[in-house]
Amino acid sequence: MGIQRILIANRGEIALRIHRAAHEMGIETVAVHSTADSDAMHVRLADHAVCIGPPPATDSYLNQAAIISAAEVSGCDAIHPGYGFLSENAKFAEIVEAHDIKWIGPKPEHIRTMGDKVAAKQTAGELGLPLVPGSEGAVSDYDEARKIAAEIGYPVIIKAASGGGGRGMKVCDSAEKLEGLMKQAGSEAKAAFGDATVYIEKYLGNPRHIEFQVFGDGNGSAIHLGERDCSLQRRHQKVLEEAPSPVLDSAERHRMGEICADAMRKMAYRGAGTIEFLWEGGEFYFIEMNTRLQVEHPVTEAITGVDLVREQIRIADGKPLSVNQEEIAFTGHAIECRINAEDPFTFAPSPGKVSHYHPAGGMHVRVDSGLYAGYSIPPYYDSMIAKLIVYGRNREGCIMRLRRALEEMVVEGVKTSIPLHQELLRQDDVLNGDYSIKWLEEWLATRE
Ligand code: ADP
Repeated sequence: MGIQRILIANRGEIALRIHRAAHEMGIETVAVHSTADSDAMHVRLADHAVCIGPPPATDSYLNQAAIISAAEVSGCDAIHPGYGFLSENAKFAEIVEAHDIKWIGPKPEHIRTMGDKVAAKQTAGELGLPLVPGSEGAVSDYDEARKIAAEIGYPVIIKAASGGGGRGMKVCDSAEKLEGLMKQAGSEAKAAFGDATVYIEKYLGNPRHIEFQVFGDGNGSAIHLGERDCSLQRRHQKVLEEAPSPVLDSAERHRMGEICADAMRKMAYRGAGTIEFLWEGGEFYFIEMNTRLQVEHPVTEAITGVDLVREQIRIADGKPLSVNQEEIAFTGHAIECRINAEDPFTFAPSPGKVSHYHPAGGMHVRVDSGLYAGYSIPPYYDSMIAKLIVYGRNREGCIMRLRRALEEMVVEGVKTSIPLHQELLRQDDVLNGDYSIKWLEEWLATRE
């Protein structure tokens, strides 16, 4: 007998997303929630709900013992961690499996390897992924660091081995500054992550962020589902994502996708993963691998027709991949706008009560959100309140539909990033797909 009841160890739109996939498969769901989320949509829709603690995430969504107890008490045979929170916690994955509960995620050892950026880069190199030129592993000796930097050429970027969320990185443009910046990066990393280990790589001037979606069955079969272009970023946070990338042609997609899928076959990777690259001058450079479902997964679903959460659940249940590489076709174009409860241009958070809510609709428009009129957005968590995902037969049609959908969205009572998206979709560079990871911040600076 396969999975009967899944505990959803998350909140917000992704909890709802997982609930929907489960119910479409005839699987029951158990929501866990903090006291701040008692009225959340996924809690209302789930078959059962268990309160696991007070509002701070450390006491609730990160409370491993409370989540395991909730799973046991409610008779769950699987846990889906969503993204963020415990999704990339190898220890938690091991604890789940030790309790004879299926972990809807990659093997713990793969989560662990990819969570350590030095180990991840080494592994990626061994698996045949192209790397950013840099130190082979961690660097602690300053003379050695200067030698490496001189070889790869300045500017270089100093990165923390256990970094995340864009933190613990320093760009260095000369040998004189290297030692000081390495010390600074190391102590910042120590304070933020408890680990001062740093490494060095070439700093790319104006790259795009292009990532490949991969899936493995855990036994050596793996596929890729093409790429997503997530270059529109602010403070390393993605704002708008699209698939396919405006700069890749079909041959390049298949070449690079196959390199990624092959790497996953060699690892016997299990479940969903994303291999992130910087792309500059037609070359890919691996930066990291995320061993979980990504926020932007729906753009891939839109152009491939594959339900990625359903696929994750199937694989956790020991089933084979539901599609093989030859069956995957990339059709049309999809764009996702992340809608946050914040001022659209100052980005100041704007939690509070939503007085009116009307999601966009119509052909090829998808809104993933737990919002409803009367809902109070709690101040404790991520500010993303909705994702608007729009599909079109081509990029131009997709953009026209996206503009129309943004006009229809009504979220009143709080400020949202809808006006930012509307203005972005009037910029020539965005319309032409001509942007790098620096574009959004530079554009925001010119608006001030
Ligand atoms: P994190 O895990 O903190 O998100 P990443 O390694 O994914 O760290 O890098 C985050 C972002 O930092 C990238 O999307 C890119 O904007 C920038 N970055 C990282 N490495 C480089 C590099 N070698 N050259 C230029 N920019 C980089």
